Amino acid sequence: MEKTIRTYTRHNFRTIPQIAVLSGRQIREIEIAARVLPFKTNSYVTGELIDWSNVESDPMFTLNFPRGAMLEKKHFHALEKLVDRQASEAEIARRVQQIRLSLNPNPAGQEQNVPSLGEIRLRGIQHKYPETVLFFPSQGQTCHACCTFCFRWPQFSGMSKLKFAMKDTGLFLKYLSLHREVTDILLTGGDPMTMHASLLGECLFPLLRPEYSHIRHIRIGTKSLAYWPYRYLTDSDSDDLMRLFAVLAAGKHLSIQAHFSHPAELSTAAVRQAIARIRNTGAQIRTQSPLLRHVNDRPELWSHMWRTQVEAGCIPYYMFVVRDTGARRFFELPLEKCWHIYRRAYRQVSGLCRTVRGPSMSHRAGKIQLLGTQQIHGESVFVLRFIQARNPEWTDIPFFARHDPKATWFSQLKPAFADRFFFEEQPARPFLAKPFQFE
Ligand SMILES: *Cc1c(COP(=O)(O)O)cnc(C)c1O
Ligand code: SF4
Repeated sequence: MEKTIRTYTRHNFRTIPQIAVLSGRQIREIEIAARVLPFKTNSYVTGELIDWSNVESDPMFTLNFPRGAMLEKKHFHALEKLVDRQASEAEIARRVQQIRLSLNPNPAGQEQNVPSLGEIRLRGIQHKYPETVLFFPSQGQTCHACCTFCFRWPQFSGMSKLKFAMKDTGLFLKYLSLHREVTDILLTGGDPMTMHASLLGECLFPLLRPEYSHIRHIRIGTKSLAYWPYRYLTDSDSDDLMRLFAVLAAGKHLSIQAHFSHPAELSTAAVRQAIARIRNTGAQIRTQSPLLRHVNDRPELWSHMWRTQVEAGCIPYYMFVVRDTGARRFFELPLEKCWHIYRRAYRQVSGLCRTVRGPSMSHRAGKIQLLGTQQIHGESVFVLRFIQARNPEWTDIPFFARHDPKATWFSQLKPAFADRFFFEEQPARPFLAKPFQFE
């Protein structure tokens, strides 16, 4: 059966067939919150993933539809007032922009990761860890549907100064040819799987040439399996896409980094078929998601997801702590709670699911995992480690922070048994324009 995507945004969501179950107040909240937060959903999410009988607490609804509580009260009220007195669109837009800028739109110092090629700053590339280069192709800076928590929201909300994207695939390839230390590339966005197969091929086919023999692993970060599995089944270029995957997977390790946040996303026949089809090309699928209050903050949901994924041939990879940006106050959980959820889920599954690592914070210094709490000489501490570090020397060394039951992000933690964390005064990666700065 041919499936055509129908997308909904702030401007047309009232045409969603099931929308009548929402109250006038809910609709108004969406209209207002969606001016600040990303809002885009589609007919697959609304038709097959959202349970409209209990919509207010439905995780897929929460993941796709902004609501008043996702903004700070003062921001929401300020916008509501403007809308009530029928302020001009320009005035509302200015206020929206102010609010967005107050929401830490560019977390974890991503600017620090942008490299150069001679005089040219490569704004579509981030190179933070020596072996891995992230590429943001400009045609992939959208998603099949948008997540309300997303830290990539400057990408789609017109905050063009903060956008990471690159039109010129040539520069990306040139950069790779000059950096023999790079073994991994990660195509990310937005969602690169919104790109046409032929465009993806333009970026990726050249990597099969001998001058890119150092590139061993190609990863594509995507939420398309969760939000539009028909991408791999019935889109007009689905077959071309599968051929592209097969050719790439024959020459390199091809890994789809699939973003799954809730078991509902793994429950349809379409997603099962899409996973099987990708696996048939020889590509692997690894899975990751942030841990989100109101969406997936129960251990059973994670253990269920990991088991289902392994059964379907996917490899659980990361559980992230939600980033300190956008609607984080609505979604965040104390780090200690994150660890409890992770640990309870982890002990419910067999070793085959224990390829997963978390809870992990993408901090400007690296990916920091909370290993747990411990008592050391009568002091209660968090034990942490770098899974990935800006300076590779830091990787995997356990270190300590004072126990803090309220902290939701690394920047709120204080070192234990010392004045500083061990890595704070050490040099950054040599190729970076600026020295490493601790927030
Ligand atoms: C997560 C991440 C990577 C990949 O890290 P792995 O541990 O190899 O999966 C690369 N670059 C950045 C900026 C990342 O956040
Ligand atoms: S699919 Fe990914 S990039 Fe797109 S909105 Fe969701 S989290 Fe952000």
